[in-house]
Amino acid sequence: MEKFYDVLIVGTGVAGLNCALHLPQNKRVAVICKGTPDRSDSYLAQGGICRLQGEEDFESYFADTMRAGHDENNRAAVECMINSSEAIVDELVSYGVDFARNADGSLAVTREGGHSKNRICFHEDCTGKEITEKLLKRVLTLKNVEVVQETTMLDLIECNGGCCGLIVSDNNSGKVFPVFADYTVLACGGIGGIFSHSTNFRLLTGDGLAVCLRHGVAVDNINYIQIHPTTLYTKSRVGRSFLISESVRGEGAVLLDKNFQRFTDELQPRDVVTAAIYRQMKKDGTDFVWLDMRPIPREEIKAHFPSIVEKCAEEGYDVFTECIPVVPAQHYFMGGIRSDLNGKTTMPRLYAVGETCCNGVHGANRLASNSLLESLLFAERAALDISANYTPIDRLTAEYAASKLDFGQYSKPEELLEEYKNNIRKAIKEAEDAKPHFGRT
Ligand SMILES: Cc1cc2nc3c(=O)[nH]c(=O)nc-3n(C[C@H](O)[C@H](O)[C@H](O)COP(=O)(O)OP(=O)(O)OC[C@H]3O[C@@H](n4cnc5c(N)ncnc54)[C@H](O)[C@@H]3O)c2cc1C
Repeated sequence: MEKFYDVLIVGTGVAGLNCALHLPQNKRVAVICKGTPDRSDSYLAQGGICRLQGEEDFESYFADTMRAGHDENNRAAVECMINSSEAIVDELVSYGVDFARNADGSLAVTREGGHSKNRICFHEDCTGKEITEKLLKRVLTLKNVEVVQETTMLDLIECNGGCCGLIVSDNNSGKVFPVFADYTVLACGGIGGIFSHSTNFRLLTGDGLAVCLRHGVAVDNINYIQIHPTTLYTKSRVGRSFLISESVRGEGAVLLDKNFQRFTDELQPRDVVTAAIYRQMKKDGTDFVWLDMRPIPREEIKAHFPSIVEKCAEEGYDVFTECIPVVPAQHYFMGGIRSDLNGKTTMPRLYAVGETCCNGVHGANRLASNSLLESLLFAERAALDISANYTPIDRLTAEYAASKLDFGQYSKPEELLEEYKNNIRKAIKEAEDAKPHFGRT
């Protein structure tokens, strides 16, 4: 890596990539990621991305988002997201994202829990992979952007009360060094890696949140953690939990108890379905409930859910002829680094976008398929805000600030990241004690 960049972005998920794409091409940008670019939760998104279905859908989409969020949402953020959804999806189409189409060529839309109508654009059951690959391909054509993999952010560098870069470690060589930038954007995703059972990549351990806690950057609602009702139950339950997308239920799949009887309305918001499943598991004395995909037409299952069919087959289940066992697992982080609608945090020159931030758009519980949309939109807005208000840092002052740091604290990155995880767990507990989140289980 070079020593100085104009903008330094942490994360190659949809938020980090879309931010890079919307920065002016005369700015030198680096986008770093902890592993390889394909190990982001953006790659895992199955269900899809919401798009307003014409002006007449606004009230209903707004009401669905607020109801799912228990009315704790930031109304301005919700309004902004919904009103931008058509432009965001259209831009993705212009990048070559291959959304499913109806026979007349219009975008096909599906439905998930908490939505009162179909408004989710999708690509089979791997929408996130399709979108992220197309964004990455586009970013890689930009001469002003460098994508640097296997590079872990360990800390922020502070000077004059603002952020002037990062301390990073090269995962391969183990070398730890400072990288300076006029602006730094944290797009480092969720916190699933700190939980034993999560749908997230294990490497997503909330490092952005941890460094903000360390530097007194404001965070909000960090105990607002979403548990997804349906992940595939396996006996060993090691590694990442495999998600069974909510759109499976949107297309007709039903939840059954140990006697193969329905016990809840499958299309309620996630927190409600999760609570119903936990209640049923307790009542039945089981470690899972059943999900029956057979009400969905066979051809629809094959066309819309190929990855789910394949994963279930690997685990020995034929979704066409039998039920599959499912169990809730940690899935999404509604809280995070406090940011405004332009991604600004409380520290000058530091932005936070995507799942790592909390601008209040999801309230207490995220509505299905609002996350890719929110991540893309607010990352674009951060890029525009940076370019509109651009001022450079004083590079000598920044270097001086880094020279005063005790690099001994970074000599064992693994241990430092472990300490960060514990700090997050502690902070979550404190937040939960202060103001409990209904959805915690
Ligand atoms: C299984 C699954 C299914 C989902 N389905 C949907 C869906 O259908 N629709 C929807 O809207 N949302 C869905 N979501 C949620 C959505 O995918 C994520 O919220 C969204 O993609 C987050 O994007 P992001 O760019 O903020 O973070 P991510 O895509 O997770 O990217 C985080 C990036 O930060 C990097 N990073 C983290 N820490 C560091 C560090 N210390 N140093 C350097 N780099 C670091 C990582 O390497 C990675 O590149 C799903 C999530 C999961 C897990």
